[in-house]
Amino acid sequence: MKMIYKPQEYRIKDERMKPFIDESEIWEILEEAQPTEENVRRIIQKSLDKNRLSLQETAVLLKVEDEKLIEEIKAGARTLKEKVYGDRIVIFAPLYIGNKCVNNCTYCGFRASNIKQKRTTLAHEQIKAEVKALEDSGQKRLILVYGEHPMYDADFIADSVKTVYDVKSGNGEIRRVNINAAPLDIEGFKIVKESGIGTYQIFQETYHREAYAKYHLSGKKRDFNWRLTGLDRAQEALIDDVGIGALFGLYDWKYEVLGLLRHVNHFEACYNVGPHTISFPRIKAASDSNIDPEFEVSDKDFVRLVAILRLAVPYTGMILTARESKEIRQEVIKLGVSQIDAGTNIQLGGYSEDNAKEQKLEQEQFEIGDPRSLSEVIDELLEKKYLPSFCTACYRKGRTGEHFMEFSVPGFIKRFCSQNAILTLAEYLEDYATPEMKKKGYDLIDVKIDELKDFQKTEDLHKRLELVKQGERDLYY
Ligand code: SAM
Ligand code: SF4
Repeated sequence: MKMIYKPQEYRIKDERMKPFIDESEIWEILEEAQPTEENVRRIIQKSLDKNRLSLQETAVLLKVEDEKLIEEIKAGARTLKEKVYGDRIVIFAPLYIGNKCVNNCTYCGFRASNIKQKRTTLAHEQIKAEVKALEDSGQKRLILVYGEHPMYDADFIADSVKTVYDVKSGNGEIRRVNINAAPLDIEGFKIVKESGIGTYQIFQETYHREAYAKYHLSGKKRDFNWRLTGLDRAQEALIDDVGIGALFGLYDWKYEVLGLLRHVNHFEACYNVGPHTISFPRIKAASDSNIDPEFEVSDKDFVRLVAILRLAVPYTGMILTARESKEIRQEVIKLGVSQIDAGTNIQLGGYSEDNAKEQKLEQEQFEIGDPRSLSEVIDELLEKKYLPSFCTACYRKGRTGEHFMEFSVPGFIKRFCSQNAILTLAEYLEDYATPEMKKKGYDLIDVKIDELKDFQKTEDLHKRLELVKQGERDLYY
């Protein structure tokens, strides 16, 4: 659809594109916050009553140092997750398409000046081999990842998305492709949207201009404002499903949490809808990386920041990646994470290569902390009574803003998410699981259907489950 702006709308559009981060404002809010017991408890309760928090309220939670109150914040996040979202965890995998890069981000193994990095761009056939391997393990949702390079323009990205969607192996198919790539111009975003993407993710890395300049030495990414307004251009191109993120470890973590929140506010003010997801990666070791340890985020603070983010934006999807270890993932998932990657291999061509189990940092962006296979992760989730989900229904039914709907529409999760999680898990169990896992999975499905019964008629779900067992695929609500 072509957008035609009237002159006044042009002005509004230009307003939207203005950088909206004011460092001194964020620091002032942090300095003024008073973390009294009464204040903290009131704010946790506000979030549990399903209200998003202001920058000032979030700053109060960030300033808490009292161990007892920190535990209350974590308990609040756990309660919110259990009450609102339940026990579903959506699974995806990253697929690196190319590691050529013109930028010099000092923390990244792909930085242009890293001569040790072996540069690879997957050709069509290689993408197909990778996708086949991913489908054969049971994946249904991917995020494609690219360095920033003139070769990886909008047409190239759109082309790789189409290649991915075209691969079908056995009962396998990829039903949702998300993107993590450099910000484009509006025309570029339109081209990528046309290829049928889900979310377009761009991480700001740090919301502090001075720190940003210190870590982004050269290349287009050095332009803080171009990156900050990237997802506004995506909106202009009608990509309304966007993901934001900060790379924790570049600057003060409390500041970054408020930076993320300011970004959410900007979206809500301008487009009436917040970002679809928030990511909070921590810096990991990388080939030729060079990071000042001053702002390293400890495990303890990491857990805290995830809990605070959950309470601050209770209706936004939260993504936790395999950068983190199995142990940290187990702890943080409870605090409100909605999506994790599993079976992750970030070596270019690594999924289809036999000897790519061990990480080779000269062919990868950074070290991962959780290299377990998809089946190992699913097994663990089932063991802990989480419901692994490969659901892609909202996106394909045109229901955008699903996390917001999950949060705010009574019965939405039971009507759609839980049933779709059960159906996609059943597909996985039928096509990819060992007999033991199949039993464990169906036992859990029985329990979950039982829990649904009070809210939702389950005859139709039972019928569909039977159809899945008989070989039908891709049934969803
Ligand atoms: N090249 C594009 C860009 O920079 O936006 C696409 C994404 S880049 C391949 C994916 C993300 O990885 C970056 O946005 C950054 O936050 C993260 N990243 C880079 N180096 C990292 C490291 N050493 N540890 C953890 N995450 C890292
Ligand atoms: Fe390139 Fe992205 Fe790595 Fe920066 S983070 S060097 S832009 S791949």
